[in-house]
Amino acid sequence: MSIPSITLNNGVAIPQLGFGTYKLPPAATRDLVLRAFEAGYRHVDTAQMYRNEREVGEAVAASGLPRDELFVTTKLNNAFHAHDDALAAFDRSLEALGLEHVDLFLIHWPLPAQDRYLEAWAALEEIYASGRARAIGVSNFQPHHLRRVLAEGTVVPAVNQVEVHPYLAQDELRAFDAEHGIVTEAWSPLGRGSVLADPVIGEVARRHDRTPAQVVLRWHLQRGDVVFPKSATPERIVENAQLFGFELPADDMAAISALDRGERTGSHPDQMNDTGR
Ligand code: NAD
Repeated sequence: MSIPSITLNNGVAIPQLGFGTYKLPPAATRDLVLRAFEAGYRHVDTAQMYRNEREVGEAVAASGLPRDELFVTTKLNNAFHAHDDALAAFDRSLEALGLEHVDLFLIHWPLPAQDRYLEAWAALEEIYASGRARAIGVSNFQPHHLRRVLAEGTVVPAVNQVEVHPYLAQDELRAFDAEHGIVTEAWSPLGRGSVLADPVIGEVARRHDRTPAQVVLRWHLQRGDVVFPKSATPERIVENAQLFGFELPADDMAAISALDRGERTGSHPDQMNDTGR
């Protein structure tokens, strides 16, 4: 299986399919990430907030895979937008992961009420300049947050990681990202499982002799987004990576896109202001 890559705005290649690690049982995380590597995934998405960077790092070490064949993302936790806090938190991430660099470091949430994401971005720019993150980006940024980063920063974010799935197609935000050379990463690509019982998706899956999860993930890939579905079930980890022997025709793509109903599984970025302090 060969997973295609997308080239970020600084020339770094990111595998379009990764493995999500939010809410994986901590004791099982190392083995599940190793299962994912065995199934062909080469990209893993973690965060300081998930409290599993150490276990992800253990899997990277145990895999025996060359570091330059793996793509590791982590994210700045909400309590650390102050410049020095962000630098120190990043150091702790590298230590927990057991790595000398990450491939991508993101601001996890903009926290608009606190309004310190520009300060955090300046810290990420320093980390990027030091070479300890091969790319930097943001997560859960709306266009009005991104416009400020573009105006005040010196580095254009490489990615914007936001909630996207058939019930929340996010076409406007994705178009904004694309216009500015920012790759959209679709978090909760399966809507945390909510979209899998949809009859339209079920019908498309039957016709292609695929599972609903494979059809939804294929829809994301054909739209050009990066995805990292999460599963704690080994068979599903394998299933979610078998996306490359088929193609959805335009009418199936349109039928799935038409399911958009603006339905979020997570917080709205304008209202999420929990710093965790
Ligand atoms: P997801 O959309 O990947 O759904 C995961 C759930 O779907 C699983 O728990 C399971 O119940 C079900 N599932 C998975 N594969 C299945 C299959 N083949 N068949 C049937 N059911 C299946 O949800 P997620 O974990 O919220 O999102 C994926 C990743 O995105 C996370 O693990 C994390 O890395 C990232 N994420 C980022 C943010 C952010 O704020 N940046 C927020 C949420 C998630």
